[in-house]
Amino acid sequence: MEKSIIELLESKIQGKVSSTREFREFYSVDASSYKIIPKIIVIPKNESDIINAVKIAKKRKISITVRGAGTGLVGSALNSGIILDMKNFSSIRLDKNYARVESGVIKGNLDKKLEASKKFFPPNPSIGSFCSVGGMLGNNSSGSRSLKYGSVIDNVKEITFIDGNAKKIILPKNKTIAKQIKKIITNIELERFPKVSKNSSGYRLDKIKTEKDVHKTIIGSEGTLGIILSAKLEIKNKPKKQILIIIEYESVIKAAKNCLEINKTNPSAIEFVDKTTFDQIKYKFNKKSKCLLFVEYDEKINLNEKKIRKITTGNIVKKLQTQEEIAKWWKYRDSSLHYSLKSIKKENRIPHIIEDAAVPLEKFPKLFLILNKINKKYKTKSIVYGHAGNGNVHVRLISKRSGNQIIKKIAIEYFEEILNLGGTITAEHGDGLARSEFIKKQYGSKNYKIFKKIKEYFDPDNILNPGKIITSKSTVIRNLEKF
Ligand SMILES: Cc1cc2nc3c(=O)[nH]c(=O)nc-3n(C[C@H](O)[C@H](O)[C@H](O)COP(=O)(O)OP(=O)(O)OC[C@H]3O[C@@H](n4cnc5c(N)ncnc54)[C@H](O)[C@@H]3O)c2cc1C
Repeated sequence: MEKSIIELLESKIQGKVSSTREFREFYSVDASSYKIIPKIIVIPKNESDIINAVKIAKKRKISITVRGAGTGLVGSALNSGIILDMKNFSSIRLDKNYARVESGVIKGNLDKKLEASKKFFPPNPSIGSFCSVGGMLGNNSSGSRSLKYGSVIDNVKEITFIDGNAKKIILPKNKTIAKQIKKIITNIELERFPKVSKNSSGYRLDKIKTEKDVHKTIIGSEGTLGIILSAKLEIKNKPKKQILIIIEYESVIKAAKNCLEINKTNPSAIEFVDKTTFDQIKYKFNKKSKCLLFVEYDEKINLNEKKIRKITTGNIVKKLQTQEEIAKWWKYRDSSLHYSLKSIKKENRIPHIIEDAAVPLEKFPKLFLILNKINKKYKTKSIVYGHAGNGNVHVRLISKRSGNQIIKKIAIEYFEEILNLGGTITAEHGDGLARSEFIKKQYGSKNYKIFKKIKEYFDPDNILNPGKIITSKSTVIRNLEKF
């Protein structure tokens, strides 16, 4: 008699294999509003375990979805087949300008190790120390300092991964595959890619200028093209000095307009928070204040301070220069999601669907006008915070009478407006279950066909995280468990 999938996995895998109810429940959720119960959990011990798991998944036609720390906000790491937890892949090796990091490394552990050598890896998601490097690579994550230093995709030199054929590949080292990728993307329509400084939607084929860039195909691919074993990350010297300036504004539109001017002074961050966040800060802001900008510089401190005083249209309330003070105020900003959840009754929360769009900075004020229009039409309210320097805001919608259909309608309408402004439906959180069905609209049919060819090349049997990025089904509402 043929062995069951679990028996087969147990006979070939040295790590853990489990299908107990507790394990399946644990891996059925992440930080999103979705829930999908997987069949089997595999925690590989080594590279051969991953190769064997992919071989078995391929042979038995069951999906295999890699998971990091499960902090993703749109269900990217949830699926129904095998879930592969990379937590045993936790080694870090530091060179002068690079860190060779396995994908299960938790970001906080990497930060600590780099800190000791006065170095840092620039992309800094607000989730802080809790996400994994694999998840950051999978989503092409970023954070406040991506304004100056770019997203993950701009800070990686090499990727080692196992594709859907169970083959180990190192890119851009493998010249044959590099050439093949270049060939597949020959007719890509670059003009259909959003004109924004950060984008985590679809496959980032626009970033491939030469064969040296082909590893960027895998970054942001949400585990749909390969299971990343390790990456060579570019690390930088920690800045010697920083200054964080907090500015209050009586109008959100005024603050949004000011971002364009402030951005010309090369700050390391321009972040936005609305009243929900600043009401939690122990400081007496002006009663008329509607929002704050956090503006950080990590070079030419005195000169930049003079510049910002000249160009700001708001009121500077704080100038922070010690590490302790700066860290304390960044914590307020990083807690915005927590503060927003705290302030909304559970039954009035609308799941994350439109929480991560970005538009070109010169169109940034318009994004708030679109939100006002949506709130009026659907009788919703919104809490807003985010990476203003990148034209990227996180929106938390509140409604007393929401239903699944409203969520989908709002998503269709909001994304339509974002695309009209030349923006992206997701700047850093990825497509996952919430946005994959909108990718064709984002990039057009011709580019979408090229995305499909890339998927078929690395994963011809569609076993790697199926239904994400390439999908013919609508997944925005299905599996919204906690809603
Ligand atoms: C409070 C809060 C704040 C956040 N702030 C930010 C922010 O500022 N910026 C930001 O970018 N994100 C933010 N996020 C979203 C999320 O934390 C990041 O995207 C994070 O990098 C995901 O990492 P993870 O390890 O949890 O990934 P998971 O959720 O486990 O996985 C994410 C995706 O990556 C894939 N993946 C995981 N490991 C691998 C691997 N080894 N190989 C290939 N693919 C892999 C998964 O299949 C999945 O598609 C926030 C989330 C929360 C809850």
